[in-house]
Amino acid sequence: MTGELNHQIRLAARPIGLPKRSDWQFTETPVPEPRDGEVLAKVLYLSLDPAMRGWMNEGKSYIAPVGIGEVMRAGGVGRVIASKHSGFAVGDHVSGAVGVQEYAALDGAQLTKIDPNVAPLPTFLNTLGMPGMTAYFGLLDVGQPKPGETVVVSGAAGAVGATVGQIAKIKGCRAVGIAGGAAKCRYLVDELGFDAAIDYKAGDTRKSLRTHCPNGVDVYFDNVGGDILDLVLAVLRRHARVVLCGAISQYNNTTPIKGPSNYLSLLVNRARMEGMVVFDYADRFPQAAREIAAWIAAGKLKSREDIVEGLETFPETLLKLFSGENFGKLVLKVEKSG
Ligand code: NAP
Repeated sequence: MTGELNHQIRLAARPIGLPKRSDWQFTETPVPEPRDGEVLAKVLYLSLDPAMRGWMNEGKSYIAPVGIGEVMRAGGVGRVIASKHSGFAVGDHVSGAVGVQEYAALDGAQLTKIDPNVAPLPTFLNTLGMPGMTAYFGLLDVGQPKPGETVVVSGAAGAVGATVGQIAKIKGCRAVGIAGGAAKCRYLVDELGFDAAIDYKAGDTRKSLRTHCPNGVDVYFDNVGGDILDLVLAVLRRHARVVLCGAISQYNNTTPIKGPSNYLSLLVNRARMEGMVVFDYADRFPQAAREIAAWIAAGKLKSREDIVEGLETFPETLLKLFSGENFGKLVLKVEKSG
């Protein structure tokens, strides 16, 4: 690898509010040599996730924060270009925590081999990857939907939300999505088969919830928190389940996080609200991925990725998640085409 350079993006400062370009540092280092048990991967696609914003903050969470000066943590897929691990050969494709960089020396024990004949590589960062697993286990294990029940999901046109709604349909539920903008709402109903979609940026979300969920909500899969969580809490059915998956509306707050004021609806309706972290289900990922792959193959589940090119666009591309500019799972293709 002598002479080759590895371009990397490191965390330079802890952001206040939305991350700025000055919160990042661009570095060039020699391409590393893999040590025993490691592989060297050329990083092809990076997963850009709302959770990255939380990893940039100091403080206790379900995972340690990224340290100042460290390469930014990111999931991704790459191609093995050198291997000192018996389980991987040059040319294999892998997914894992590759970081925001062009090359990564990675512990083979932490990698998953992926088969590009099963699906295009970016799909392994979406429905066949972490967001797909989140939707599957969050909905089925925590939400426990039953046929005929009404499932509402926010962030519905995004990576997790779109899969939640489609699995809800597969399981015989009524699926109602909440998303920003007419194009996303049309996509949910016309292409993904949701029963209804509510554009929270237009019109009266409270009224639309009552129109599209006339008998109330049995499962609310919450990706956004804030005001939308409060509105859905107000229309819960008895014994409803609220899956606390994320709160993207709160991630860039410079003021304290806004908690739900309608929480007494949980009491009145004998309902529950439960947090979930996808990594807790890691031992069951292979089984879930097989089932999701079968649904994709049978035409029952669609996977949409929004692919942006160029490692250097990372700081601006990440912000699309918070403005709602991404339409589908946001993926960064490290090398520009052509
Ligand atoms: P995504 O939905 O593909 O992208 C984020 C979307 O959030 C945006 O496109 C935007 O869609 C919406 N959004 C942004 N700001 C908003 C606001 N203020 N109010 C309402 N909606 C807003 O992202 P994702 O990867 O699927 O993640 C969705 C959620 O799941 C996030 O909260 C994430 O942190 C969480 N998550 C949790 C776990 C876990 O283990 N608990 C794992 C993965 C993801 P619109 O155009 O519709 O506004």
